[in-house]
Amino acid sequence: MPDANQPPEREGTGALPGIPPASLPPVRWRIYVDLDAFYVSCELRDRPDLKGRPVIVGPPPSEGPTRGVVLSASYEARKFGIRSALPAVIAARLCPEATWIPPDFAKYEQISHDVRTLLGGYSEDVVPYSIDEAALGIEATTKEEARAVAERIQRDLADALGLPASLGVATTRLVAKIATDRAKPGGIGVVAPEEVAEFVAPLPVRVVPGVGPKTDEILRLHGILTIGDLASRRPSEVSGWLGEFGRELVALARGTPVEAPETSMGPRSRSTDHTFVTDVASWEEIGTAVREMARELGYSLEREGLRYGAVGVAFRWADFSRSQRSRTLTASREGIAPLTDLAVRLAHELWESEQAGRERPVRTVSVRTERLTERTQRQVSLDDYPPTARRPLAPK
Ligand SMILES: [Mg+2]
Repeated sequence: MPDANQPPEREGTGALPGIPPASLPPVRWRIYVDLDAFYVSCELRDRPDLKGRPVIVGPPPSEGPTRGVVLSASYEARKFGIRSALPAVIAARLCPEATWIPPDFAKYEQISHDVRTLLGGYSEDVVPYSIDEAALGIEATTKEEARAVAERIQRDLADALGLPASLGVATTRLVAKIATDRAKPGGIGVVAPEEVAEFVAPLPVRVVPGVGPKTDEILRLHGILTIGDLASRRPSEVSGWLGEFGRELVALARGTPVEAPETSMGPRSRSTDHTFVTDVASWEEIGTAVREMARELGYSLEREGLRYGAVGVAFRWADFSRSQRSRTLTASREGIAPLTDLAVRLAHELWESEQAGRERPVRTVSVRTERLTERTQRQVSLDDYPPTARRPLAPK
């Protein structure tokens, strides 16, 4: 373990060219990066003629009836009310002139990898949150300096990879994420620590990741509509309604957000399931669902620094019977692509063996990882240091 009193050495976060080394102590910032309309942006690199037009990535409805959904829509298509997860048939009706492109997940995965490599040039501490979102830690002495890094990343993503992105900069990931959402599309939002309370006050509670319709409803019943409404409430009162999360919301409202730990000692297995809107009898659709679910699961393990020793896939058929298949690995593994490939392979084997000669549609699919272990070599991040070692905030 490094000496906790000694700031760790970092690379790639040095002073910016043209800016003299400052005498103020550096502050730890989180830059949240969210690629705009990611699947569409990946496709536009190969089809620049479609820029500025309504484009939808999803199963083209012209190729016959589909129960598929929109995976990504360009901002021009969104003006017609088209959103991710909207059924393709409805999207086609809302915007008949849209160009449809079938998804190419291998391409998106590769480009996502290129993005992470590019971000790795700015910081050793890059945490992926999904195929098109990641956060990185940097050090900067002032808000302006932090913003300059974000601007450079945004320019770099556009120039080197042809990808538009929105970025949020704050001293916690939570606030950086909220700032990113407010900056979409194509913007940069920067919130200094002393500005947090004022920044979040007018926003509806729903903008906080983790606040869904149920939590929103509970808060509404207590007369809370905006985050600012929480600032004067007692943490114990709000945690009475929402558990520990209630305390975090009050802390956010008061401008002292709690940083959620990136690593947790959760249960030793992790699973995710998906029930189709209508039962599905095509391998195409099932394979796509399994791939998406395995990928999301892979990202959550990655983010928590976990390796997996076994992978399983299960189907619940329309008649509610259940079949499953799993594989225990000889050694524990990490990485999103191997998990995705194995889950799809297991699902395909299951589909082939159980479906043969029968016409059974699938109701629910689930993907599971087991025998989870902590990655032994964890990257040391500043968050590992006691608060006193990382806290000094630059005076304004
Ligand atoms: Mg995005």
